[in-house]
Amino acid sequence: MSELDRPPGATPAAPRDWTYAPAPESRDVVRIAERYGHFVGGQWLEAAETYETISPSSEEPLALVGQGTEQDVDAAVGAARSAFANGWSALPGSERAKYLFRIARILQERSRELAVLESLNGGKPIKESRDVDLPLAAAHFFYYAGWADKLEYAFANRRPRPVGVAGQIIPWNFPLLMLAWKIAPALAAGNTVVLKPSHTTPLTALLFCDVLRQAELPPGVVNIVTGYGSTGAALVKHKDVDKIAFTGSTEVGKWIQSEVAGSGKRLTLELGGKAANIVFDDCALDQAVEGIVNGIYFNQGEVCCAGSRLFVQESIYEPLIAKLKRRLATLRVGDPLDKNTDVGAINSREQLEKIASLVQSGVDEGAEIYQPPCRLPEKGFWFAPTVFTNVAQSYRIAQEEIFGPVLSVLTFRTPEEAVEKANNTPYGLSAGVWTEKGSRILWMAQRLRAGVVWANTFNRFDPTSPFGGYKESGFGREGGRHGLEGYLRFDE
Ligand code: NDP
Repeated sequence: MSELDRPPGATPAAPRDWTYAPAPESRDVVRIAERYGHFVGGQWLEAAETYETISPSSEEPLALVGQGTEQDVDAAVGAARSAFANGWSALPGSERAKYLFRIARILQERSRELAVLESLNGGKPIKESRDVDLPLAAAHFFYYAGWADKLEYAFANRRPRPVGVAGQIIPWNFPLLMLAWKIAPALAAGNTVVLKPSHTTPLTALLFCDVLRQAELPPGVVNIVTGYGSTGAALVKHKDVDKIAFTGSTEVGKWIQSEVAGSGKRLTLELGGKAANIVFDDCALDQAVEGIVNGIYFNQGEVCCAGSRLFVQESIYEPLIAKLKRRLATLRVGDPLDKNTDVGAINSREQLEKIASLVQSGVDEGAEIYQPPCRLPEKGFWFAPTVFTNVAQSYRIAQEEIFGPVLSVLTFRTPEEAVEKANNTPYGLSAGVWTEKGSRILWMAQRLRAGVVWANTFNRFDPTSPFGGYKESGFGREGGRHGLEGYLRFDE
């Protein structure tokens, strides 16, 4: 019976099928070139070698992209040095701010195009690139534009000066947003930049070069060289780079730290994490379940601060797990360009294999696995949302960063036990606490060894708020006034 046929007063008939109709975002808003070179000194430098970048959701080739050589990196650093020396570093802060404001406005104006490209090349759901990545990337430029002419006030009596040429290496999980986190504070502080995006997700950084041209940013202030890890290594080793800012794996971060040791180069590292999301029995349970889902399934769990270890107070373990499993069954996994999709594609085959092997280790070590029934597309790289219960602290799934949609659930009885277990990790990037007691939130936040502690929320980002880690999660802060410090020297 349709709603129209229903006699007045009769109970509404439940629809037989609640599945969503496809709601694909149009790809037509983006033009992808067949081949890209490197963006050096405001010009496109022809790439001698190229590789193919693909869409992880369909494995469809998207474009040929330059594999940066030492010579390309050298040309980019030379262009950045000359832009630094010939005007940019001496420009009044209020003038630099104008460029940053322009970039922010253009990002807003072209956000649909950039969001579609981000989802196409990286696999993340369009509703996340549209509602999170793009607005936050623009917000970073707006925010740091505001600081550019106020550095003397931000660091009173310390005579802030730009560091020089910044080499910036970013990962694939938030390509454009990480670019904004890196470039906005560097330019606000008067530095010039050479940036290397991840080889799997170069396309939004390359489209960003067009944004820079539109903003009429002076040539050489921002240079982008694409390629694999070897391109990043050439940037790290280059003698005329004054600062390295890196976001990525702890392993590469350690290598970079040893490489720049003694060179006088400044360094900030934002590395991995294994965040504890701690749920107390007095929390708003349904809200906590939403926070847990957002904490680990947002961006397919490919998030350095993902809430990948869930600590549940024993007294609410059963109702919470039941609610969580029910909620998981409603997540829609599939086409990243579909506006209804909650969980998109895994970024690369390599990453998918890493996730699968860690999940297998969890099963082998004796944890209990749950995956809701969901049909994964045949082509592309996919992994179903996964929850592990019956997890011991020593299991690899409780120790190692999986960087995928995989949650390990552990329990605790007292706040002291929660703190001890949460801190039992080499990482220290983020944590979450769910409780209605303000005093308990403060008590926990004081004891958790994490750069960010969220209370009754998770994965909340704001350009005004510094972000960064302890221990093997790295050092230095991005965002906020603190985010400027890595790009300034002080003549005190
Ligand atoms: P990497 O650390 O290898 O990549 C991060 C960036 O560094 C990329 O641009 C990469 O280039 C570049 N790079 C790689 N090797 C070097 C090098 N020797 N010198 C300079 N730059 C280099 O991370 P992966 O992409 O390999 O991911 C592996 C794991 O790292 C993930 O499973 C996850 O656990 C973690 N990770 C953490 C991130 C975070 O935000 N903290 C982000 C990404 C990954 P290219 O991509 O072209 O190889």
